[in-house]
Amino acid sequence: MKSGKINVKTENIFPIIKKFLYSDHDIFLRELISNAVDATQKLNTLVKSGIAQTELGDTTIEVVVNKADKTLRVIDKGIGMTEEEVLKYINQIAFSSAEEFLEKYKGTDSANLIGHFGLGFYSAFMVAKEVEIITKSYLEDAPAVRWTCDGSPQYKMEKNDKTECGTEIILHISEEDEQFLDEHKIVSLLHKYCRFLPVPIRCGNEKYWDKPEGEEKSVELERPRIINNTNPLWKQAPSGLTQEDYLKFYRELYPMSFEEPLFQIHLNVDYPFNLTGVLYFPKVKNQMELQKNKVQLYCNQVFITDQLEGIIPEFMQLLHGVIDSPDIPLNVSRSYLQSDAAVKKISAHITKKVADKLEEMFKNNREDFEQKWDDIKVFIQYGAVTDEKFYDRVKSFYLLKNMDNKYFTFDEYQTHIEVLQRDKEGNLIYLYAADPETQHVYINAAKERGYDVLWFDGFLDTHFINMLEQKLEKARFTRVDADIIDKLIEKDDVQVSKLSEEETKKLKEIFDNSIEKEKFTVKIEPLSETDLPIMLTRNEFMRRYQDMEKLSGQKSFYSAFDHYTLVVNGNHELANKLLHEGDTEKQATLTKQLVDLALLSQNLLTGEKLGEFVKRSVGLL
Ligand code: ADP
Repeated sequence: MKSGKINVKTENIFPIIKKFLYSDHDIFLRELISNAVDATQKLNTLVKSGIAQTELGDTTIEVVVNKADKTLRVIDKGIGMTEEEVLKYINQIAFSSAEEFLEKYKGTDSANLIGHFGLGFYSAFMVAKEVEIITKSYLEDAPAVRWTCDGSPQYKMEKNDKTECGTEIILHISEEDEQFLDEHKIVSLLHKYCRFLPVPIRCGNEKYWDKPEGEEKSVELERPRIINNTNPLWKQAPSGLTQEDYLKFYRELYPMSFEEPLFQIHLNVDYPFNLTGVLYFPKVKNQMELQKNKVQLYCNQVFITDQLEGIIPEFMQLLHGVIDSPDIPLNVSRSYLQSDAAVKKISAHITKKVADKLEEMFKNNREDFEQKWDDIKVFIQYGAVTDEKFYDRVKSFYLLKNMDNKYFTFDEYQTHIEVLQRDKEGNLIYLYAADPETQHVYINAAKERGYDVLWFDGFLDTHFINMLEQKLEKARFTRVDADIIDKLIEKDDVQVSKLSEEETKKLKEIFDNSIEKEKFTVKIEPLSETDLPIMLTRNEFMRRYQDMEKLSGQKSFYSAFDHYTLVVNGNHELANKLLHEGDTEKQATLTKQLVDLALLSQNLLTGEKLGEFVKRSVGLL
């Protein structure tokens, strides 16, 4: 038996480590299992290349919980270590890298650290008061050794009679971490971090029972089970996979999700960096369903995180699936990661891949693409609004849908409305409606004039419109209920007013007297006789600001200016009738009735006012 002192500068880094990583003790298991997987894969390679002379049997990694002994063991059948290797890799490298890690991150907020890669083996001391390593190298004449340490620089080393090659790490779990002696807890951790590791992992509870003296103790794993899928779908060649395989994998990733995804993109990049993954487009109908933290980041099949802010583009965080890259530097803080050049490149590349795939879908089967459009629109808009490059990539196949459920690219739509929908400055006027129900009257009015109306009911549409007005040349977007669309559009048949100036003034007065002045402005307009006698319109820009305020949940500043224009059609027969009504009481009733009709068509007549309207209507009938 040998004992010695590990050469580290800090006397006892254990308490510091423990405190430092206080919030995330879980990851010790990921680190130990990763090491076990590495060791197993190394032996595998050595055997296959004929360098190691041993036979490869079952290489399942075992994780054994023993409540009675208060130990947790990770057992692999990998390459193992010789005594020299333990001295070198564990005493020197593992300890000094733990020290280095500490130096680097002293003073940073541990909550800001993404994963804690780089801490490696030493993280065992976060949960164990003592750690044992029993290991035997694959090299035939190397004897097995047992190393023990309590996290201080003192260690012990002795020979051991282990005969099979591989390593067993025994953690003597400290009192405050006894949660890690709960099999369910361990299984759930393995499920989180190790569920797609390439070597089978079995976990179980160890059961000892008494045997007569002298006989070896029997060990049984209670309900042992393999917890991982060693060949996850994203690592397989896309050519060999069916749509059913992708759906099956989706259900494996999100067992609680009942909706099936729309489609997926299989990422497979080897140059200039290594990246694999599958990104699913979920079906999303409204803002509430948009959920971040669904995409999972892996490093060589080890789960790292699902908090991907700053790592992949924002809109892609709304997708589902997996990204796996050994090239994302993991032993660094999030803020570092966000400014890391490699990460930026990877992020840009994923964006490109996603746009390419969408374009390919558009080109290969437009009909199918149109069918998916309503569901994917929100992602594309989000991407376009938050990332200019993405907009540039998708603008040739971005689709505008009109009220007749027809889809147009920007170019196609321009041609479609070019003739009729231009204003005096030569701007193209894009008319749109948000709700075919409440805006029915306006939509019809526009259609009767031969205009086309787009259907913009998405919650990002307002933002998107603002952006499009900057991007598209000479384009203006106007909602059908905005202040008189006819004024925007150049028309040959300008309507002549049938009312004299005097009459117009009088008519305005009549209406002014029956409305709340701070909420409405009355305008008498010479519309066509067949147009409605009265309409409510709103200022396009004020309304958009209000919409955006609502969307961002801000305290309403613009909403305080909730203001409508009451447009009275001076050329309508009713206007004439009203003007020449001798009975002032009847005149007032008719005026109120008209105003209420306008409100009603905008869904603004409720409560007491609605009751009054119904009563008055009955009276008039
Ligand atoms: P890293 O894994 O990042 O190199 P660790 O601190 O986790 O750092 O481990 C240090 C070294 O100890 C490893 O590189 C490896 O050589 C050795 N080692 C750790 N665990 C095992 C194991 N289960 N089998 C064989 N070697 C191991």
